[in-house]
Amino acid sequence: MLVIHHPDQALHDPEQVFRTGRFIDQPDRAERYRIFLDVVKDSGYAVVEAPLDRPEAITDVHDPNYVGFLKTAYARWSERPGYGPVAIPNVHPTHRMHRKPTEFLGEFGWYSNSTSCPITEGTWPAIFASSQVAVHGADRLQTAGSPVYAMCRPPGHHAYPDLMTGVCYLNNAAIAAEQLRRRFGKVAVIDIDVHHGNGTQFIFWRSADVLVTSIHCDPQLTAPFYAGFADEIGEGGGKGYNLNLPLPWATPDKPWIAAIEAALQRIRLFQPGALVVSLGFDAAEHDPSQTFKVTDKGFAEAGRRLRALGYPTLLVQEGGYLSPALGGYLRSFLQAFQSGT
Ligand SMILES: [Zn+2]
Repeated sequence: MLVIHHPDQALHDPEQVFRTGRFIDQPDRAERYRIFLDVVKDSGYAVVEAPLDRPEAITDVHDPNYVGFLKTAYARWSERPGYGPVAIPNVHPTHRMHRKPTEFLGEFGWYSNSTSCPITEGTWPAIFASSQVAVHGADRLQTAGSPVYAMCRPPGHHAYPDLMTGVCYLNNAAIAAEQLRRRFGKVAVIDIDVHHGNGTQFIFWRSADVLVTSIHCDPQLTAPFYAGFADEIGEGGGKGYNLNLPLPWATPDKPWIAAIEAALQRIRLFQPGALVVSLGFDAAEHDPSQTFKVTDKGFAEAGRRLRALGYPTLLVQEGGYLSPALGGYLRSFLQAFQSGT
């Protein structure tokens, strides 16, 4: 197992986000990066720093204007007298308004749909590093015998080509999948984060070369609310290459694994050259989101089954938030994935 990371990933660490009428603790704290790094070092895996040298891979998936906005957003925010220490948008277009403004606050709202993506001085370096971890992971993935874990943080699977949402800014898994598609021809994505991978679905919505599958909580009940339903199957050439498997609140191991197995059956039929796993641990019973009830054993079983597929596999870290059990979920998954037993 090769593990890729970069220390700049810890530079983004806003303490709070505005939700449910108040400021609450931001779920994606930099502490997650340190917990994951401790687990992979303790476990004896080969750990390497990603070179930050593939910026062009980001715009293979994302709108260059959006990427330019992300790069300069905090500097533009900081020039404003009286603005707070953390940039948070407070206006957004609706589906009845279609003109992109140039004024900073309007542009910020244009590129986001909620208050869940605060921007600080360290945000761009962190999200850039996280994307480069994914790209470097894809570059290092050569054979099924040497899987790669891209220890991405901040996560990415909610990010659209020109939209930050759900603590995601750049879609690390989609950026990596696009690189792998160019090398391997056909790529499958399986997203086991408890939230639907709406950004990844959108990016490959019309593609028959990238099969996107996602196992998640019913979007009628939780974020991302606007996508992730079972009848979303892709369009045009991509029709039939998107599979959503929404599950009820409080889903435990057995039906969660059964849904993963259903996705794996579809992936086998597709016969991809490589597999990307959007690896979230927020389906866990002790995750602060309290959505599903997946245990250590459930994550280990998922790891075994994903490895048994036998494809060259890139693991891309998504969600899974702070609790004393977080590191244990990663440890269980990677051990089972690595050994295949
Ligand atoms: Zn999630």
